[in-house]
Amino acid sequence: MRSFLKLEGQAKKDFYQAKYEYYRHFNLGTLFISAIMFFVLLVPFWQVYEQFSWQFLAIRCLVVIPLAVVFLAYRKTRNYKLMSVLSLLMVHAMIWGNIWSATYMTDHSYVNEGFLIMNVVLMLVSFSAPPFYTMVAQLGLIGNILLANQLFHFAKLDVILSFNVKAIVLLCLVNLIITGFYYDHYITQKKLEFALFHDPLTRVFNRRQLHKIMGEGHDLSFMSDNVVILIMDVDHFKQVNDTYGHDEGDRILQFAADCIRHCLRGPDLLIRWGGEEFVAILSDCQRDQASVVAERIRRSVEMSVNGVCKITLSLGVAIYEGGDCFETIKKADQALFVAKHNGRNQVVYYESLDQEALEAAGINGQTNA
Ligand code: GH3
Ligand code: MG
Ligand code: MG
Repeated sequence: MRSFLKLEGQAKKDFYQAKYEYYRHFNLGTLFISAIMFFVLLVPFWQVYEQFSWQFLAIRCLVVIPLAVVFLAYRKTRNYKLMSVLSLLMVHAMIWGNIWSATYMTDHSYVNEGFLIMNVVLMLVSFSAPPFYTMVAQLGLIGNILLANQLFHFAKLDVILSFNVKAIVLLCLVNLIITGFYYDHYITQKKLEFALFHDPLTRVFNRRQLHKIMGEGHDLSFMSDNVVILIMDVDHFKQVNDTYGHDEGDRILQFAADCIRHCLRGPDLLIRWGGEEFVAILSDCQRDQASVVAERIRRSVEMSVNGVCKITLSLGVAIYEGGDCFETIKKADQALFVAKHNGRNQVVYYESLDQEALEAAGINGQTNA
């Protein structure tokens, strides 16, 4: 069995949601073409078998109702469960339409072929649905055959059933195989996405993640009304590399990233900004909470044992007030510069800096203090 069958909870939902997103256009296209086919079946019955009735025409026209429901739902929602149920129900509606219209015909032999065609349509529509939904929908087909038998009393019901059961088993297997292929694609895509937006050494986000989520004009106000930006830099890191080697330096960077990550909450964003520098974007965070978090990070790195050497962090903090977030990062960077200048292993808040402090650190900039 392919490993997608072992997925549970949110991972399972994410997978089937992604599968639906991937096949949703195909799904709608298949339903649209099936509806046209359902309607144009009028022509062969009229022209070839010379069977036509106004009721037959009216029932064929009714296909626009389930098609419209699916189309409206398609535009309103991307919920894979709802869309799978609606799409598969639409195929069943066409099957019921076929059975209903056959009651106005003298020859019912085509109904059997109709079941097999609908079986294939069910399979195509099932590409976007989880295999369980497909199995239920395919089993519903057996119910439809039994329903049709009540009306038309097929001479060879056992043959029709055995033929369709084999087709159902085969098509359910095809659905499992298709889902398995999609799972391989899904995993590859997940790995590529992870590689694109994460730093391979520390496994925290890279700058691309910030570019991905930022609004127009580098805006971050969509995150919350209270966003605080922290910039953190490992003190004397060059010495660590020079003394213990680059590999141990890498381990220290991983250790620092882990310490910082453990001090943040779920919605906060941690980015490796470059070298031994990290940026944290804290959403929904008041100034006093930001001080607690920044101090917790500083102490956590200072107190933890990493197996190589003792390290410390300097932190610059700035409050985001809307607009271009890179301006706030620049302010946090100036506060970090002051922290370095004042002896390292400390937190400095941009908002509490005055011109004198900036100038003393060799920065010429405007402050709002
Ligand atoms: P300061 O306290 O002023 O920040 O001093 P520093 O030595 O930490 O700063 P400096 O900018 O002089 O040195 C940063 C060093 O970080 C230099 C660079 O070789 C090292 N570095 C950058 N990226 C990596 C990496 O991925 N792995 C390792 N091991 N070292 C890195
Ligand atoms: Mg440094
Ligand atoms: Mg640095």
